[in-house]
Amino acid sequence: MAIQLETRKLANFINGEWVEVSESTGVTNPATGEEIVQVPLSNTSDVEKAVQVAKEAQKEWALVPAPQRAEVLYRVGYLLKERKERLSQLLTQENGKVIEEARGEVQEGIDMAFYIAGEGRRLFGQTTPAELKNKFAMSQRAPVGVVGIITPWNFPIAIATWKSFPAIIAGNAVVWKPATETPIMAYELAKIFEVAGLPKGVINVVFGSGSTVGDAFVHHTDIRVISFTGSNDTGRNIAAACGKQLKKVSLEMGGKNAVIVMDDADLELAVEAILWSAFGTSGQRCTACSRVIVHEAVKETLEERLLAAMEYLTIGNGLNESIKVGPIINKAGIDKIKSYIEIGKNEGAKLLAGGYELTEGEYRQGNYFAPTLFTDATADMRIAQEEIFGPVVSLIPVKSFEEAIEVNNGVEYGLSSSIFTNDVNRVFKAQRDLDTGIVYVNAGTTGAEIHLPFGGTKGTGNGHRDSGVQALDVFTEWKAVYVDYSGTLQRAQIDV
Ligand code: NAD
Repeated sequence: MAIQLETRKLANFINGEWVEVSESTGVTNPATGEEIVQVPLSNTSDVEKAVQVAKEAQKEWALVPAPQRAEVLYRVGYLLKERKERLSQLLTQENGKVIEEARGEVQEGIDMAFYIAGEGRRLFGQTTPAELKNKFAMSQRAPVGVVGIITPWNFPIAIATWKSFPAIIAGNAVVWKPATETPIMAYELAKIFEVAGLPKGVINVVFGSGSTVGDAFVHHTDIRVISFTGSNDTGRNIAAACGKQLKKVSLEMGGKNAVIVMDDADLELAVEAILWSAFGTSGQRCTACSRVIVHEAVKETLEERLLAAMEYLTIGNGLNESIKVGPIINKAGIDKIKSYIEIGKNEGAKLLAGGYELTEGEYRQGNYFAPTLFTDATADMRIAQEEIFGPVVSLIPVKSFEEAIEVNNGVEYGLSSSIFTNDVNRVFKAQRDLDTGIVYVNAGTTGAEIHLPFGGTKGTGNGHRDSGVQALDVFTEWKAVYVDYSGTLQRAQIDV
């Protein structure tokens, strides 16, 4: 039995109040096609209100000692823990991911709360020697002010916590625009902040479209930082607009992640990891494995074992504990995946399994696509270069370790990569040479831990990272402070 929300229509969360908006649109459960809730379509004056409230609240919040700010985040962590099952069930209903993965995603939020709350007693700067006598020098982190957070639908709670928690611990106020497809996690998280006692206005949730609300965030002069996760097209436009305003922007975007399977790999383990990385969240993870770069010596065996294992992938409504692969977020997602199946076939890749939408019987109302395996793909094919964002994986045979690294790196993205080998020399060369922000050895391409930096090289981002202590760099400015206690004018570099 699915959990019901207490409301049929969500409201914005501004200055600690639930503010209704006249225009709204329906949110559908991708597994059943049923409308779950109405989400507000806010306009620019709603954004204006939220930003002004945040601006005022931030002045006070920045003066609250960071260990006290941390107390609020610890309470948020405990509330997330207490409500984990409810949140997970709701997440599966709005996003479609299977319940086990939804629980994992909520757990990431819990981990992030407890981890980053600890920063309330660190937020380290540096003290350094000064060049001159009787002078003190140090650097410290300062909050930037109001930060704008724009999040995607595929990890609607985890990504929000990777961004909002570090922003809050550092003394900023937040305006947050969640994806329209998955507003329930934002609603639930705002309720948790409210119960945890976060002062009014420190976090504000404005629901609505990217082109109205997101765009207003990007262009608002009182928003000093934009932290965005989403697609490359949107990210590029946001970066260009922020560039013109000299606004700091952190971008986490797409991936074309590969698992490399060498001739000495543990194939059974590799198969398990490929299935989990390629078909988990129906391939709709930024770190999803969509390429398998396989040594030609084990290619046939790997194909056979993958095909055999794929037989056991149960597809359906993720609320059912026995389901392994849930639905695709919407019909546009299905259409994009279908188009890549045609592209792959026309390019000459061999379709070994799947390649079709499921439309009959229990699948009729939802958006389902069969887990798909291509083989004999070449590194330059579009299916091996472009993000498909669905349960589609392509095998690319290679002749050597060196070629595997080259193929892995020969894409515009640089998020995650993985290698299966038992040769320690290859392991160390691979972790050095794989040009991605995340590297796994003898594990799939997914499964980031929140105390490490999350993000990618090249076209995946612009050099910033979510989560880990590195997230603080996005939401703070460095301030250098000099205290001269000599009582005389000491000129730097001159009176030495
Ligand atoms: P998207 O770019 O369509 O939307 C992301 C967010 O941006 C949404 O909230 C959307 O409303 C908003 N938006 C859209 N147009 C905007 C505009 N003009 N101005 C401001 N905001 C705007 O992406 P999506 O389809 O929601 O998410 C899938 C993408 O996200 C994939 O490419 C995936 O790889 C990527 N992703 C990356 C990471 C990472 O950390 N690297 C993590 C998860 C997802």
